[in-house]
Amino acid sequence: MAQPKIQTKNDINPTAINLASRLDPEVKPPPFRQEVMWVTLMLHIAALLAFFPRYFSWQAVGVAVFLHCLTIGLGISLGFHRLASHRSFKVPRTLEYFFILCGTLAAQGSVKGWVGYHRMHHLYTDHTKDPHDSQKGFWWSHLTWVMHEIPNESERLRLTKDIADDPFYTFCHKYHTLLQVALGVLLYGLGGMPFVVWGIFVRIIVGFHSTFCVNSVCHMLGYRNYDTKDTSTNCWWVSLLTFGEGWHNNHHASQFSARFGLRWWELDVVWLTIRGLESLGLATQVKRAK
Ligand SMILES: [Zn+2]
Ligand SMILES: [Zn+2]
Repeated sequence: MAQPKIQTKNDINPTAINLASRLDPEVKPPPFRQEVMWVTLMLHIAALLAFFPRYFSWQAVGVAVFLHCLTIGLGISLGFHRLASHRSFKVPRTLEYFFILCGTLAAQGSVKGWVGYHRMHHLYTDHTKDPHDSQKGFWWSHLTWVMHEIPNESERLRLTKDIADDPFYTFCHKYHTLLQVALGVLLYGLGGMPFVVWGIFVRIIVGFHSTFCVNSVCHMLGYRNYDTKDTSTNCWWVSLLTFGEGWHNNHHASQFSARFGLRWWELDVVWLTIRGLESLGLATQVKRAK
C-alpha cells in the first residue's frame, strides 16, 4: 500500500484568504444535501426515544458504551484517523480491516470519504478548501459542513489513491449503511428495541458529536502547546470523549505521530492501545512526535 503524501500548507495565510472569501458576495456556500440533513435529523429524534422508560435497561446502556469504545475508539480514532488517514503505524492486514470495519460502524460516512476529507483538512486547515473550515463558525465546522457538497470532491479522489482499489475498503465504502442495518438487526435479536435505541441511535449521536467536537471545539477552545499556523487547540474533555483525539494542537504540529497526548496529564487512550499492540508485536513502524 503506497504511503499517502500529506503536507501542511504552511505558506497559506488562512486569515487573509478566508476574509477575502467571506467579504466576496459572489462566494456562495456549496449546494445543500437535503437527504443528509433529514437522516441526521431523524437519527437525533430516534435517539430521544432513550428518554422513554420502556426503552431503558442497564444492559442496553452497557451495549452503547461498549460500541462507543469499539466504533469511536478503535474504529474512528485509531482506525480511520491514525492508521488509515495518517499511516502513523502498521498492523497486519486482517487487524487493519477489523479497525476499518469498526470505524465504518460509527456511521460517519464511508471510509474513503472520511479519510479524504480529513487529509484535505490537514492540507488546507482553516482555509476555504478545508471541508470543515473553522473560520466559518462553530456550527459549520461541527455539523453543517456534512450537509453540503464538498466543492473539491475530485481532490478527495486524488488524496485517497492509496486506498482506492483496496477490496475491503471498497466493500466498507459501498455497504456502510447496510452494515449498520445488519448491526441493528443483530442488536434487535439480542435485546429488542432497548438495544437498538441505545446501541444504534444514542451511540451514533454521541459518537457523531464526540468526533465532530474535534473539528469544532478543538479549533476554538482550549490551550496550545505549539504555535502552529492554524487555530488548532488541545481540549481535555474532547480527548475523554474520543480516547485522545482532543490533543488536536499536538496532532496538527506532528500529524504523522501516532501519539497525540504528549504531556504527562494528556491522557491518550488510543496511544496506549497502539503501545500495547506494539509490545505484542502487532503494531510496527510506529511514528512518534519528536
Ligand atoms: Zn484540525
Ligand atoms: Zn489528522
